[in-house]
Amino acid sequence: MIASKSRSGLSVSGAFVEANVVDGKFITKVYKARRITKRFKEKSGIAQSKELKRRMDTFLQAAIEEARKGLAEGGIPIGSVLVLDGKIIGRGHNQRVQRDSVIHHAEMNCLENAGRLKASVYKRCVLYSTLSPCPMCSGAIVLYKIPHIVVGENVTFKGPEEYVCSQGVKVEVLQDPVCIQLMRDFIKTKPELWNEDIGE
Ligand SMILES: [Zn+2]
Repeated sequence: MIASKSRSGLSVSGAFVEANVVDGKFITKVYKARRITKRFKEKSGIAQSKELKRRMDTFLQAAIEEARKGLAEGGIPIGSVLVLDGKIIGRGHNQRVQRDSVIHHAEMNCLENAGRLKASVYKRCVLYSTLSPCPMCSGAIVLYKIPHIVVGENVTFKGPEEYVCSQGVKVEVLQDPVCIQLMRDFIKTKPELWNEDIGE
């Protein structure tokens, strides 16, 4: 057996490739260098952003569940969750119809359910909403100095996001297809209820 070896360095994915020539045949082996891969990912920020994405998906999912709960109750399908240090501390959905309420939009309902909190707590929170917050809910976000909001979509309705941004709030819009579909279907079936909700 005649074997000669040549080795390549680390690839981007952190795998180690060993190339051997055995009896005239070219054989390659790929070793996953897990420790190196992990370190590489941490260094490059890939692991961090994946973790962030996973969390964002989970929280948006929770907001969507709230929106669906509202729809099942005969209400407007908008949901919201308040997240403190990676944990949900409040959930809510639009209850204009259910409670005959003029203020229980999803975000207001969520903040109400989270209860009375200190300014120092709001400062560490992220508010998720399936839809771009309206002027009333945006006002509450600015008032309580919530530093970061994640918005499911702003295709079917766009609140005063520029104003919210100008007040130092980080606004992330995901344009999530499920959120868009929920609103599109609702507006199509009950346009009068939707117009009432946004004061039109
Ligand atoms: Zn609102």
